[in-house]
Amino acid sequence: MKALVVHSPHHASVEEVPVPIPGEGEVVIRVKACGICGTDYHIFEGAFLSPYPIIPGHEFAGVVSEVGPGVTTFAKGDRVTADPTLYCGECEYCLTKRVNHCKRWGALGNTTAGSLAEYVKVPARNVVRLPYTMSFAQGAFVEPVACVVHGMNRLQVQACDTVLLFGAGAMGLQLVQAIARSGAADLVVVDVASDKLDWAKRLGATRCVLSQDVGTELGRDYPDGFDIVVDATGIPAVIEQAFDYMGKTAKFLQFGVAPKDSSISMSPFTIYNKDWTILGSMAVNNTFLPALRWVREGRIKVDELVTHRVKLDEVPDLLAKPKASAMLKAQVVF
Ligand SMILES: [Zn+2]
Ligand SMILES: [Zn+2]
Repeated sequence: MKALVVHSPHHASVEEVPVPIPGEGEVVIRVKACGICGTDYHIFEGAFLSPYPIIPGHEFAGVVSEVGPGVTTFAKGDRVTADPTLYCGECEYCLTKRVNHCKRWGALGNTTAGSLAEYVKVPARNVVRLPYTMSFAQGAFVEPVACVVHGMNRLQVQACDTVLLFGAGAMGLQLVQAIARSGAADLVVVDVASDKLDWAKRLGATRCVLSQDVGTELGRDYPDGFDIVVDATGIPAVIEQAFDYMGKTAKFLQFGVAPKDSSISMSPFTIYNKDWTILGSMAVNNTFLPALRWVREGRIKVDELVTHRVKLDEVPDLLAKPKASAMLKAQVVF
C-alpha cells in the first residue's frame, strides 16, 4: 500500500509499505479521508517525541477491510472512524476515567503507524460506526471535535460568561462554535488574519479583533477582563499576554499545543490574588462518541472548515511549505 513515511525530521516521502495484518481484537480500515493536523506538522518538524520512521495521521474515516480473530462487533464493509488513543485499560489512570494519561499511553500516527496511508490497523474497541448520513470527510473530523469536547469538559462554561479566545484556526473555530452553544455572553475572538475572523463571526463570535488592535480595543472595552480566556494558538508570546485580559476569578484554558521546551513568565501573586484557575486539555478522553453526536447533529459545523483537499502524494510538499493563512483544515482524500 501507499503510505506517507516520515523517516526523520523534515524527511518524508510517499512509499510502498506492507498492508497491516489485523491481530487479535484488531481491524484494518481502508482509509477514505484523513485530516492533517498540527501534530502531523510537529512530527514532520521533529518537535514531537515520535519514534522515526513513523506513518503519521490520526484523524480519519474509512471502510473496514479486514477483521482480526475475536472481533465480532465489526465486519468487512462497515463505514467507520476510530479514536486514535491507545490505552491499556488497566492502570490507575485508565481505571479512573483518565485514559488520556494512561501510563502506557500511545496514539495512532504518533507512537504507532497512523492513517496517512491507504490502510490503518486499529483496536476494534476504538472503532465507531459512522451514521449513514455522515460523510467520510465529517467522520475524519470527529477526532479534532473530540479534543474540543474534552476541552469543554475541562472548561465548564457557565451561562453568560464573558469569553476571550486567541486563535481562529481550524481548532479555534470549533471552539468558537462549542463555546457559543454553551451559553457564553461575549465571545471575543482574536487572530492575525482578518479572513479567519470573518469565519469566527459567522460561527458564533460576538466580536472579532485583529491581534494588532488587542491592546487598545480590549483595554478600553473590557477594563475588568474576561471570565474565561482560551489560547488556541500555542504561541508562547500570545499566551503570555493572554493573562493580561483575565478578570478576577477567571479561568484560563491552554488548548493550543506550545513547543515542548517553551516557557512564559507570569506572576504567582496574581494567580493567588485574583483567584485564577489554570487548565490544560490534553487530546481526547472518552470524548469520541459525544463528538460523533455533535458532528452528526451539525452542532459543530465541520464541512466548511475543510478548505483543502489533497492526494497523499501531495502531503510531503504540503508539510514542507509554510501553512497558508487561508488554510483551515486540509484533508487527504483517497
Ligand atoms: Zn489532530
Ligand atoms: Zn492505562
